[in-house]
Amino acid sequence: MVSRVIPVDPFDLVIFGATGDLARRKILPGLFRRYLSGQMPAEAQILGAARSEMDDGAFRTMVREAIAEFDSTEHKPEELDAFLERVGYEAVDAKGTGGWDALRGRLRDDAVRAFYFSVAPSLFGDIAERLRTHGLATEATRIVVEKPFGKDLETAKALNATLAQHFDETQIYRIDHYLGKETVQNLMAVRFGNTLFEPLWNAQYVDHIQITVAETVGVGGRGGYYDTSGAMRDMVQNHLMQLLCLIAMEPPAKFEPDAVRDEKLKVIRALEPVEPYHIVRGQYDRDEEQPGYRAHVENPRSFTESFVAMKLHISNWRWAGTPFYIRTGKMLRARTSEIAVVFKDAPHSIFGAEAGRHRNVLAIRLQPNEGMTLDVTIKEPGPGGMRLLDVPLDMSFADAIGPEGADVPDAYERLIMDVIRGNQTLFMRGDEVEAAWAWTDPIIAGWTGRNDVPKLYDAGSSGPEDALMLMHRDGRRWREIKA
Ligand code: NAP
Repeated sequence: MVSRVIPVDPFDLVIFGATGDLARRKILPGLFRRYLSGQMPAEAQILGAARSEMDDGAFRTMVREAIAEFDSTEHKPEELDAFLERVGYEAVDAKGTGGWDALRGRLRDDAVRAFYFSVAPSLFGDIAERLRTHGLATEATRIVVEKPFGKDLETAKALNATLAQHFDETQIYRIDHYLGKETVQNLMAVRFGNTLFEPLWNAQYVDHIQITVAETVGVGGRGGYYDTSGAMRDMVQNHLMQLLCLIAMEPPAKFEPDAVRDEKLKVIRALEPVEPYHIVRGQYDRDEEQPGYRAHVENPRSFTESFVAMKLHISNWRWAGTPFYIRTGKMLRARTSEIAVVFKDAPHSIFGAEAGRHRNVLAIRLQPNEGMTLDVTIKEPGPGGMRLLDVPLDMSFADAIGPEGADVPDAYERLIMDVIRGNQTLFMRGDEVEAAWAWTDPIIAGWTGRNDVPKLYDAGSSGPEDALMLMHRDGRRWREIKA
C-alpha cells in the first residue's frame, strides 16, 4: 500500500531562531524530507531569521550541514540543491527594529504565510508585536510556538494574553510534537474508526491504563533549564497530559479541531486532584559511569525531579473507578513511550485456577517501532490439557503499510504541514494549556510546601522502588520498560 502525498499550497515559512538547535536538528531536516516526498510545492519559500549576520548563501551552507548531520534520508545531490534554492535568510533582532522591513519585502501576498517561533518564549511577545507593527502579519497569517508554554498557570495566561493582543486563537499553533506522532493519531483512528474497542473502552471493562514515557538520556546540555522545570513541567503537563486526553476523551462529533480539543479539555477538567501518596518523585543517582543528576545540573542541593510516577483518577461517567498510572523519567532502562490499556479479567474462568490469570492488553507504542499489540489468550499448543498462554497480535505500522509505502513523516514534519494546511486539530488550544497548568500547579506547590525530597534511583533502572510500590499496593504491576 503506497501512502498518498498531497502537496500543500504554496507557502512562505519564516523560522525565527533558524540558527538554533531545534531548527537545525528537527525543523530544517524535516522540511527537506517533505520536499523529497513531493509534499512541498515548487513555490514554497523557507526563510531563516535570527540575529546572526548572514546572507542567503551562508545560511544555505548551514542548512546543508544540518541536513548532513541530522538527516539520513537517501537523496541525490541535485535534490538537496533544488531544496536549498527555496531557502533564504534575513538577519532580524526580535527586540530591535532592523531587518523587519527587509523580511516583509520577501513575503508574497498570494502564498500561505507562517512564522515559526523557534526561540526562547521570552521573545514570543516581541516577535508577535513586531510582526504586526512592521506589517508582516495578515489576517490569514499563522504563528507556531514551541514549548515550554509557561511554567505555571499565571505565566501561561500571560503568554496567551500577549499572543492574543496580536493574533486570533485560530492563528496560533502551539506545538506538542507528541501529537504529531503517527501512533498518537492512530490511537484516534483505532478508537473511533472501529466498532471493536469503543464498547469496551470504559471502567466496566478496563482495569487500568498505564502511560510510560521513558528516556535513557540524562538532562544533557539542558541542565540549567531542566533544573528549574523538572519532569512534571517538562513532560507531564504537556506530553503525558495530551496522551491521557486522547486515550480517555469522549468521541468528538467530528474530527475537527475544536470538536477534538473540546473533548480533550473536558478530560483535563475532570482530573481529580492527586493525593500526595499517589505521586512518586525521583532523581537519578550517581554511579561509576556518570556523576548523577545533581552534578549534571550543577546544583548539589537540587530537589528537582527527573522522574515522576502518579496514579490519577478521572471523575466522569466513563472512567469512575479506573485508575490511570503514568510515569516518565530520564536515565531509565530503555527509551520507550507506550500506552497500555489493561482490560479486566474474564468474569469467570471455565478453565480453573491452574489455567492462571490472563488479561487482554492493548499496547500502543509511540517509540521505538511505532505500532500496536493486542495480547490475547489462547491455548498453549500441544498435548497435556488446557493450559493458557497470552500471545500478542502484533501490528507494527511499518510492516502493515509496507516498505515502499511507509512514508511516515516525523512528528515535526507532519505538524508543519498541518500549519500550512491550516489544520489545528493536533495543536493545543490556549484553554487546554491553561487547564493543564491549573491541574499541575497545586501538585508542584504541594512539593514545595512540604520540602519534598525526590527518591534516588539507579541509572538504567525502572525508577525508584516507591514507583513500583505505587502499583503493587493496588495488586497491579508496571509493564516492563524495554526497547
Ligand atoms: P537555541 O539553540 O538556543 O536557539 C535559539 C535561537 O534563537 C537561535 O537561532 C538564536 O540565534 C535565536 N535568537 C536568540 N535571541 C534572538 C533575538 N533577540 N532575535 C532573534 N533571534 C534570536 O534554542 P533551541 O534549542 O533551538 O530552542 C528554541 C525553542 O524551542 C525554545 O523555546 C525551546 O524551549 C524550544 N524547544 C526546543 C527543543 C529542542 O530540542 N532544542 C525541544 C522542544 C522545545 P541568534 O543568536 O543568531 O540570534
